[in-house]
Amino acid sequence: ENTLRNKSSTSQIKSLKGNVGFSCFPDQVYLKSIYDGFKFTLMVVGEAGIGKSTLINTMFENKIFPSSSEVTTTENIKGVEITSMSADIQDNNVKLHLTVVDTPGFGNYLNNDNHWQPILENIESRFDAFLAQENRVIRSKIVDNRIDALIYFIKPTGHSLRTIDIEFMKRMHAKVNLIPVISKSDTLTQEELTAFKARILADINFHSIQIFKPTIGSFDDPETTMDTKDILNKIPFAVVGSEEYVKREDGNMVRGRAYPWGIIEVDNEKHNDFTQLRKMIIHSHMEELKDYTDTVLYENHRTQKLLSMGHVQDNSVFREYNPAAQLEEERKIHEAKIQKMEAEMNAVFQQKVMEKESKLKQSEEELFSRHKEMKQTLEKQRKELTDKKKQMETSVRPSSPMDKKPKKGLFNLS
Ligand code: GDP
Repeated sequence: ENTLRNKSSTSQIKSLKGNVGFSCFPDQVYLKSIYDGFKFTLMVVGEAGIGKSTLINTMFENKIFPSSSEVTTTENIKGVEITSMSADIQDNNVKLHLTVVDTPGFGNYLNNDNHWQPILENIESRFDAFLAQENRVIRSKIVDNRIDALIYFIKPTGHSLRTIDIEFMKRMHAKVNLIPVISKSDTLTQEELTAFKARILADINFHSIQIFKPTIGSFDDPETTMDTKDILNKIPFAVVGSEEYVKREDGNMVRGRAYPWGIIEVDNEKHNDFTQLRKMIIHSHMEELKDYTDTVLYENHRTQKLLSMGHVQDNSVFREYNPAAQLEEERKIHEAKIQKMEAEMNAVFQQKVMEKESKLKQSEEELFSRHKEMKQTLEKQRKELTDKKKQMETSVRPSSPMDKKPKKGLFNLS
């Protein structure tokens, strides 16, 4: 884990087997990934003892996460640490390389200001490490350590979100798929939970916090659509975790928690939302989580980073997650281009018309003055001619009958 900004990274690779559920992955993705297996990186955030390790172990049906009592006690930690552990889980011959990134120390002090900071830095440093590899000339063997999802554990207080919850989610939502869960939901009654969920959603809405919500695809069959709607209805998931098996009234052993008044079953949809949470992450929306991380969250980070470094974004390579939105964007750009061209053409046309008009006007004026000049010249000539004619008329008088008699003169020889 060379990209981790952590001081005490405990990385362990375990080979585990179980009936986890990712081998029932949607066919296409399954075929694509079957050769090299799946890879998933999950971050968990919440104060010590909130139920993180129990939930992860329950979800992957393996002891991936040592219980907090087995780990160095968080009292020794100053501030927030980042640790990670990996496990190769086998499910019906399909391999999942799972990395769980833990953040011990978060929320454990009286003053928990800025606890989000090392976590945000860690998420961003993973993006940066990926970007550095993408920018290399030889890009084979890119190691992808980006966080695909972050489970944020909300304390089952039954009130509403605390300042630390709101601050954390607001700082994080543009960088990671946020999945808020209410942990240890068995400590609240059904009524308390319903009201708590409503208040949490209202807070999330009020603060414009973007949490991960699976999308219903336009080509999804009715059953898948129903499942996704069912998942959407459960957000924020109220979960119960337990690695223990307890005996039900019918004698069956189930994962759950035993109480004097009865048992709470982990895998029973009527008892809590663990099934939906697990289905979303491991089965139906693992690919969507990875996709969204890659095409939206990482891409935005990359754009900001490059812009801050003085690069100009080349929109032609900008990958938009939503193809319809991308088409719409391209159509708008195209339309704007055409409008600009039209406006430019109009301006050129106007200019040309004006030039022509002024030329015509000019030549008209020239013509007119030439015409005037010519007219004046002609007039002058006419006047001159008239004058001449008059002169001639006065000098050569018409002959009187008397003049018919030849005059005596030099040449008159007769
Ligand atoms: P972590 O420090 O966040 O990893 O918390 P753990 O998973 O180690 O859990 C701390 C304690 O809470 C343990 O005693 C667990 O058995 C208990 N615990 C975990 N999940 C639940 C739950 O869903 N309901 C109840 N009632 N207790 C739980």
